[in-house]
Amino acid sequence: MAIKRAGEWLTALAANRKGEIFEIDGYAAVGMADGVRTPVPVRDTSPMPYGGELMFLPDRRPIVYHIESGDIETLTENPYEPGEPVFPVAAFNSPGYVQAYITGYEETAGVNSLPLFSYGAVGWRQGSFRSPLIRVDTEPRQDLRRMAREKVEAGVGRMRKRLPKNRLRKHLERCALEYGCPAGKNFFLGRYEAPLPASGACNARCMGCLSFQEDAGIPCSQNRIDFTPSPEEIAEVALVHIQRVKQSVVSFGQGCEGDPLLAAGVIEPAIRRIRKETPHGTINMNTNGSLPDVLANLLEAGLDSVRISLNSVREGCYEAYFRPRGYRFSDVLQSIETALARGAFVSVNYLNCPGFTDTPEEIAAFVDFRKQYPIQMIQWRNLNFDPLKYWRTMDAVAEHGVPMGMKQALQHIHNRFPDLQYGYFNPPREKWSLPNPNRKAPRAVDSGPSDI
Ligand code: SF4
Repeated sequence: MAIKRAGEWLTALAANRKGEIFEIDGYAAVGMADGVRTPVPVRDTSPMPYGGELMFLPDRRPIVYHIESGDIETLTENPYEPGEPVFPVAAFNSPGYVQAYITGYEETAGVNSLPLFSYGAVGWRQGSFRSPLIRVDTEPRQDLRRMAREKVEAGVGRMRKRLPKNRLRKHLERCALEYGCPAGKNFFLGRYEAPLPASGACNARCMGCLSFQEDAGIPCSQNRIDFTPSPEEIAEVALVHIQRVKQSVVSFGQGCEGDPLLAAGVIEPAIRRIRKETPHGTINMNTNGSLPDVLANLLEAGLDSVRISLNSVREGCYEAYFRPRGYRFSDVLQSIETALARGAFVSVNYLNCPGFTDTPEEIAAFVDFRKQYPIQMIQWRNLNFDPLKYWRTMDAVAEHGVPMGMKQALQHIHNRFPDLQYGYFNPPREKWSLPNPNRKAPRAVDSGPSDI
């Protein structure tokens, strides 16, 4: 590999056992994508966006690039404190940015899984921490600088007076104030998208599920909702949000619940109640898409958009990660087909990971998938899961060639489908760049007598 001037590389970082982060002079940061290890040029990086976090990885060693010799090396001790251990550093970047590489590291023997975050490559240059990133969404929907705690608390106080008996309002208080959930905060701030969690159960066992983990070694980020809100409670929360937020979105399928299709019994009447009151706002569902017939009923009731979560469009890779119980990948494809046919705006929540998503096999499969299922949008979401464990799991079920790089992968798909919207957040219908041609004009659904 051509040896370049030090200035062209992102300086490597490491941490000591106290978690103190330091630069390693003479070494460049290394990005990883399954078998690929590559030094990161500064030109491919940007300063870490506001709200990102740095983490050090226990029981692991940093992989770095020695600029002088041009060698990729694994550090086994702290170069500034011989005999002392040294640990890799990773970036958990803010929403709206796709991580081009995983930070370079290797595991020591017998390690536990890493917690549910994404571990982006990161280094130091020009006075800032920098990461190789691709921005896919510029909306400040989850910009923490616009979510001051005191404003959220004031919003909570107002909503307590407005919806005193509503259990869902009470649940969202915990989401906003205790879990720090941006969607929960946005409800109380009256911004963008409000969450409507309703389901305590799920028929998948995703390896990286935020609300339920069978692997005792991985802590959940939040507990699942432990009650089923009534259609009235759901509709009340949704209508308060729709009536005070322009271009509002209300969404079923949140991190603090199972899959909303399993709570259709309360969600369907809730949607009808919302649409009885107003044609405004976008009613969205984030789901695993496991039950196409149930989804069809919700679309008939007035659901506007659907976001289906996928780590892969290949059956074996999908089932290895989602571990479905009682449904198959073909059911998910059926749900996508049904939603498209019924005029919904359909997004894929593409759980992406360098070293898998950018492999020739996954990209080729996605191109075939999009030809058959003309979805409107990809929401690029960095996979929050132990990358080495993920690559091992995916490589056990499918052959993979050399990753082309996330930047090239996003460009390749864009070149093939220039009409395909990229983003991170569920857009309100006013921002659908490619409305579904099967979509009928919004209509007030007559659902008979209502007592809202
Ligand atoms: S579909 Fe959602 S709720 Fe169900 S296991 Fe996967 S991440 Fe968890």
